[in-house]
Amino acid sequence: MASLVRSDTQLNQKSYYEASVERPPACPALVESLNVDVVVVGAGFSGLSAALELAQRGLSVVVLEADHIGSGASGRNGGQAIVGFASGQEPFEDQLGSVAAQRAWDMSLEAIDLIDARIEQHAIDCDRVNGYVYVADSARKQRALHEEMEGLQRRGINVDWAEGADLPRLINSPRYVAAAREQRSGHLHPLKYALGLARAAQAAGVRIFEHSPVTGLQRGATVVARTAQGQVTARFGVLAGNCMLAEYGPAVAPEIAPRIMPVGTYIVGTAPLDPNLCARLIPRNAAVCDNNFVLDYFRFSADHRMLFGGRVSYTTRTPANLPALMARRMGEVFPALAQVPIDFVWGGFVDISMNRAPDFGRLGDNVYYLQGFSGHGVALTGLAGQLVAEAVAGQAGRFDVFARLQHHRFPGGPLLRTPSLALGMLWHRLRDAL
Ligand SMILES: Cc1cc2nc3c(=O)[nH]c(=O)nc-3n(C[C@H](O)[C@H](O)[C@H](O)COP(=O)(O)OP(=O)(O)OC[C@H]3O[C@@H](n4cnc5c(N)ncnc54)[C@H](O)[C@@H]3O)c2cc1C
Repeated sequence: MASLVRSDTQLNQKSYYEASVERPPACPALVESLNVDVVVVGAGFSGLSAALELAQRGLSVVVLEADHIGSGASGRNGGQAIVGFASGQEPFEDQLGSVAAQRAWDMSLEAIDLIDARIEQHAIDCDRVNGYVYVADSARKQRALHEEMEGLQRRGINVDWAEGADLPRLINSPRYVAAAREQRSGHLHPLKYALGLARAAQAAGVRIFEHSPVTGLQRGATVVARTAQGQVTARFGVLAGNCMLAEYGPAVAPEIAPRIMPVGTYIVGTAPLDPNLCARLIPRNAAVCDNNFVLDYFRFSADHRMLFGGRVSYTTRTPANLPALMARRMGEVFPALAQVPIDFVWGGFVDISMNRAPDFGRLGDNVYYLQGFSGHGVALTGLAGQLVAEAVAGQAGRFDVFARLQHHRFPGGPLLRTPSLALGMLWHRLRDAL
């Protein structure tokens, strides 16, 4: 792992999302000393959401972004906005009890509603679609999916189940033996959403500086975030740098870095397809995800491209021959797509925590951090930003539901922890094949 930053930057060069938006003129880099209420590190969904919510509460906010808005995971993900947590409810129930676990679950639903509320309130045009299909590719996975769907139903989500000859009602693929559809989850164009959030934050008074990596953070009664040519002094700090925080600013918060692991995941975007074919393959345009440990996730874009994600790297090295590998996988799911041209290939790093539950907390009294979304960040990041704003405003009850969760560190530094994780994942991959 020579440079996570370099490999991450390279992974974003051929993204469908970047090719399908017109970015506004770049924000300036920080070249001055500023004094504000809150300094936010990172202009992804988490940082932008926090900044917007804080500004709406009347605080002065500066966001410092190492690269540009939405250039991290937020501008390149699968766009799937999913109810619940990657960990399931277990860590919440086991550690916090059933009342707090229920509260966390309710907040995960609120996270989805928050996306829609913001789209409406700030007129964010981001190709939002409701509908989600979970699929299983073996009898064992079908049983697990059935159990998971019973859990969703117990928690009030309507689920439409299909198997055998009934399956094409939800998905038309020879790979799967069962599928379940629900309407609360869905999908969107993540970079359009990130840019919309940034616009809304700026309209609320937030100042965003791009190409301004924070390399040092002085903590205490006031915090001072330092970049190469400037600094921001603030009463509060919010760290929303995801996997790249430890890369751009190793000294900023070294104690939180080992609690997440950067896992590479990749997406291919096909050429535009016949809309009738799309409607036949995935009726009603749902986002789809299987329930393997190393999962495939896919959906159609608004201009009828298949955006097919999957294939992970636990070593942070991009797999060789990635487009061909991904195209083969996509062809196994949808034989009709086996030969379609691939126009885009990109990827990025997902921030997974050891138990797959989000990792929110404080460093001292006035620096908050948000990380460990573990592949559920499209929805949960918005909520996370809102919870930080509530906490800064003196109402920390909801933030603390998450902050009370215990998280473990991955053993070793990045160089040590990736090979051991890779071995662990090999075991899970073998189990996926059963
Ligand atoms: C390929 C891929 C597919 C995914 N698919 C899904 C999906 O379908 N559904 C889902 O829910 N989740 C998905 N995820 C995860 C989801 O994208 C993330 O959980 C979410 O975007 C995290 O948002 P964030 O704001 O915390 O981090 P990011 O979007 O990564 O933003 C962090 C920002 O901080 C900046 N930064 C870092 N360090 C510093 C520093 N020192 N100074 C200044 N700036 C700094 C970075 O440049 C970056 O812009 C996927 C992720 C990837 C990579």
